[in-house]
Amino acid sequence: MVLFLLPVAFALVVYFAWRNKGVRGCRWRADRSRDKGSLRMYRCMACGAEAFTASKGPPDSCKKGLGGPSL
Ligand SMILES: [Zn+2]
Repeated sequence: MVLFLLPVAFALVVYFAWRNKGVRGCRWRADRSRDKGSLRMYRCMACGAEAFTASKGPPDSCKKGLGGPSL
């Protein structure tokens, strides 16, 4: 019985680790065709969020939930 439960517990740990990583680790990708002046447009490949930044580099946090009703 214990031997049967071990793979299940392991799968749950991997699932939650992967899930947390997905929430925290947005993969921003610059879309230069949608830049607005000095604002750089970034799109998250992980959750589909879109964000504009005025500084160099992608946004540090995920904007999911703030973007709008589309999704
Ligand atoms: Zn994201």
